[in-house]
Amino acid sequence: MSLFDRVVRLGLPLVPRRMVWILARRYVAGETLESALDEIREQGARGFGTILDVLGEAVKSKERAEGAAAEYHRALAALAQSPSRTYVSVKPTHLGLTFDPALCGRLLDDLCVRAAEQGRKVRFEMEDAPTVDRTLEVFLRVRAKRENLGCVLQARLFRTPDDVTRLLRELGGGLDVRLVKGIYLEPAEIAHTEAPDISRAYVDLARQLVAGGAFAAFATHDDDVAAACAQIARDAGLGDGRDPDAARYEYQMLMGVKAPMAERLLAEGHPVRIYVPYGKDWHAYSIRRLRKNPEVARHIARAFFSRGG
Ligand SMILES: Cc1cc2nc3c(=O)[nH]c(=O)nc-3n(C[C@H](O)[C@H](O)[C@H](O)COP(=O)(O)OP(=O)(O)OC[C@H]3O[C@@H](n4cnc5c(N)ncnc54)[C@H](O)[C@@H]3O)c2cc1C
Repeated sequence: MSLFDRVVRLGLPLVPRRMVWILARRYVAGETLESALDEIREQGARGFGTILDVLGEAVKSKERAEGAAAEYHRALAALAQSPSRTYVSVKPTHLGLTFDPALCGRLLDDLCVRAAEQGRKVRFEMEDAPTVDRTLEVFLRVRAKRENLGCVLQARLFRTPDDVTRLLRELGGGLDVRLVKGIYLEPAEIAHTEAPDISRAYVDLARQLVAGGAFAAFATHDDDVAAACAQIARDAGLGDGRDPDAARYEYQMLMGVKAPMAERLLAEGHPVRIYVPYGKDWHAYSIRRLRKNPEVARHIARAFFSRGG
């Protein structure tokens, strides 16, 4: 990454919201549930499954956590009106994990019950390293009652192979994991920091999950990692993708990122699900996405200079 790119990325939080929105709208369906439902319909028509995410995180009050849960219930009620291969994904700190893990567990449990009535899954996401223990604790407590709950594990963390071993011991083939590289930059004492090491760790974990019989959702836009995962799935005979609901693996990608790769994976016969986030809290999510995008510095520079700045 050039020094210029680095400086622009560090300065992203200072960029006016309106300008961030111009760049970010490809990653976010919109502010309203209706915009997300439109996107889900479009992705469904192209053959993709979808994942609905209500944007928000790090809430600090019971009211905000309950408000987030209420929005998920509203979304599930709307999804019930039309058939779609969609499930919901929720950040632990959006449901109050940081200040009240018991509340977070109750809200998650209610969501699982409502989603199960419609035959949908709930995915409990993973955030930064200090939240991992509590997230897995809440996950396991709720998962003991609700089979439709899955979790997320991050390849960059040194601890993850041990977490996989533990989760496989507790849940066996009932374990359902979205495997990601991990978006939160963590210190070198606890995490890989170099891209090749993270990719290697990812592929090793994919192999460990598949060998243990877990359902594996390969959430990546990295062509090499995705190809290695396809080989792992093929070697294990994990379904040919013709019936996406029967396969024991899938790919997951973010709305607005590498759409041609998603099309190609689908055309090759793999089940693919697109992550569709929506909501008023799009700013923090978008800044994280834009930081990952090498085009961002150029976009911002162009927008800045064309304003005569
Ligand atoms: C469905 C889904 C859910 C996720 N959930 C979580 C979660 O719960 N917790 C968590 O920590 N992380 C989560 N992530 C993020 C993940 O950890 C990675 O940060 C992110 O996917 C980028 O890693 P990568 O595997 O795509 O590889 P990278 O090496 O980062 O990217 C591969 C290539 O993809 C392209 N690319 C990647 N991101 C962008 C972008 N924003 N804009 C344009 N091009 C891009 C670039 O060309 C890049 O070279 C999720 C990712 C997905 C796809």
